[in-house]
Amino acid sequence: MKFNTKTIHGGQEHDKAYGAVMPPIYQTSTYAQSTPGGHQGYEYSRSGNPTRTALEKAFASIENGNYGLAFASGLAAIDAVIKLLKPGDEVVSTNDLYGGSFRLFTKIFQDFGIKFHFIGMADANNIENYINENTKLIWVETPTNPMMNIIDIEAAAKIAKKHQVMLGVDNTFATPYLQNPLDLGADIVMHSATKYLGGHSDVVMGALVVKDKDLADKLYFIQNASGAVCGPQDSFLVLRGIKTLHVRMQRHCENGKAVAEFLAKHPKVEKVYWPGFESHPNHDIAKKQMRDFGGMLSFTTKGNDYEQAIKMVENLKVFTLAESLGGVESLAGHPASMTHASIPREVREKTGVVDSLIRLSVGIEDVDDLIDDLNQALG
Ligand SMILES: *Cc1c(COP(=O)(O)O)cnc(C)c1O
Repeated sequence: MKFNTKTIHGGQEHDKAYGAVMPPIYQTSTYAQSTPGGHQGYEYSRSGNPTRTALEKAFASIENGNYGLAFASGLAAIDAVIKLLKPGDEVVSTNDLYGGSFRLFTKIFQDFGIKFHFIGMADANNIENYINENTKLIWVETPTNPMMNIIDIEAAAKIAKKHQVMLGVDNTFATPYLQNPLDLGADIVMHSATKYLGGHSDVVMGALVVKDKDLADKLYFIQNASGAVCGPQDSFLVLRGIKTLHVRMQRHCENGKAVAEFLAKHPKVEKVYWPGFESHPNHDIAKKQMRDFGGMLSFTTKGNDYEQAIKMVENLKVFTLAESLGGVESLAGHPASMTHASIPREVREKTGVVDSLIRLSVGIEDVDDLIDDLNQALG
């Protein structure tokens, strides 16, 4: 089955009870048993729910894996991955990580005796310098947020295999429409399904997909034992979102390219961060591992003025000033005052998050309206 068919049919079957074409929302916590232990595959909805199962099969299908697991949020999914580890274990991760993942690693799991290395991965070979006998996991995010850095997944996977450590990839920004980490040698692919998979900014959810049965069993044990599962209504919404992922992503990519090219030519814009430009430092790797360049980009304005950047995002009318990304509607954010406000200026500026940096999640509206809106707000 090809991707554009998998989004609609992957792992899906019609409801056995009445032939419903869409999976029913099994809004139930528990299931009747004919005799103790005599159930039809479900006994309690933390352990399993048919609507969630339908979604988990869809996750597995679109990411070319064998097993999918749905969680209450993207961070709950990452939390489950780190719970595979023990005190003394080490993780090598990127220095341009999603802020929430960084907070989870440093403020929660570090206190449980797990050691994290946050390193530059623009050259994936650098990973090898941080691997020792305690290393158990390499955690990669590509493209990164908000600087749109690209990490070579295949190169990271080679290093992971050589040293027998797991490779996990946060594929939230690219989605399986653009990039399939499991095919490139990753062991775990993770999503904040809140973003493009859900696609409509109406649900918070996380996903993991793996190929290996043993790893799937361990993660399922953690999912059930720790209990950060998503509800049936949310499962239904994300399943519905996935059905249009390919058409939405196609438009996100087209609009993202048009907006990136418009901004690059605008006299008030200093720099545009978008992996589709040949001038992007890892454009070749992006071209190798992604099928297109997505709808996420960041840019800075000349003079790098904090107040001016805030005024610009306030002046936007079609773009909404908001956290998050990946919905059908266009969103703009100002990392220095929003997502990265808690990071000291000297630290955030080192990774490129300067005062005038603005991040855009380019939606699927008419691109002329998006460009007009940016033009008036920059003016
Ligand atoms: C949003 C996001 C997360 C966290 O997901 P939640 O659903 O908000 O918990 C993790 N990684 C990336 C890249 C994200 O954008």
